[in-house]
Amino acid sequence: MAAAKEIRNFDELSKLRLADEGYIVITDTTRHAIIHKVNAKCIKADSFNLKVTINGRRQGSYFWVDSIGTAAREFGAIRCKVCKPELNLVQPSTFDT
Ligand SMILES: [Zn+2]
Repeated sequence: MAAAKEIRNFDELSKLRLADEGYIVITDTTRHAIIHKVNAKCIKADSFNLKVTINGRRQGSYFWVDSIGTAAREFGAIRCKVCKPELNLVQPSTFDT
């Protein structure tokens, strides 16, 4: 079953990263949503704090998703070129890179 949920604070982010399952999608009002590995170094506490806490998620937000397929369907997310999440269970053509 496809699942996605918004990450509303740093505590939730920490728990998800400890669990080490799924992926993180970062949305932004000015560009494509991007999917990252849940423990990728490109997900930075400072960036999370700015977007979620300081800007109150008005210009984008962080979501946990169970799979790359969910990220593509729900967010039209593209893969991060830095952490390169695997293409598990979906056709590579799903993504425009
Ligand atoms: Zn990344």
